[in-house]
Amino acid sequence: MTQSKQTWQGKVIGVQPRIRLWRSFDQRAHTYLGYNLTIDGSFAEMAGIYTIAIGKAAQAKHQFRVGDLVQGRAAPVVDERKESASYYKVSHLKLVERSHVVEAKNPPYHGVPPELETYQWRGHRRLSARTYVSQCTRCIWGCRMPVEMVLDQWNPGQKRYRFETFCYGPKSCTRYNAGPTRKVPGRQGMSWEEADWVDADATAHRDEDE
Ligand code: SF4
Repeated sequence: MTQSKQTWQGKVIGVQPRIRLWRSFDQRAHTYLGYNLTIDGSFAEMAGIYTIAIGKAAQAKHQFRVGDLVQGRAAPVVDERKESASYYKVSHLKLVERSHVVEAKNPPYHGVPPELETYQWRGHRRLSARTYVSQCTRCIWGCRMPVEMVLDQWNPGQKRYRFETFCYGPKSCTRYNAGPTRKVPGRQGMSWEEADWVDADATAHRDEDE
């Protein structure tokens, strides 16, 4: 099903990486798609806050950051299980006015987010969904990932979907709260718990303030 595009515009209040997570019991893999812009403005002349997915080339070209005034056209996401954003397939993307917001030295961190390769290099720790909503939606290091879970590797059609929140930021961030460990469902009612050591291992190469 294709959806027609509508015009949107507004002020950027968050830029975060657009990353998809695939899980199969204790295995996981990431797909680095681009960035999500959270906009305080209007979509099809309806005022509100909207999250719009863009590709990495668009972000590389425009270097979007919190405070920018931006406009474009986009279509509603068809499969909402696979995108954090509500809109994608952006065209006519335009930076109307560059932000004058001074880059934050304390969390939540603003400014231009790094390249996706940097996120990949940094690795992430799980982040409480509640903390993400209350503290981290404007931080370049926060990420809400759509997760596809294959329940049985011998029957890959059996899938479940959910969203998980992560932090790629400094381990010393005072706003950080891991929240409960996550369990990945498997076949025949089994599940695998992603223990704290997984996060420690994924970020062991970084200093506390890095
Ligand atoms: S916990 Fe992570 S995402 Fe949240 S403000 Fe700190 S660095 Fe940013």
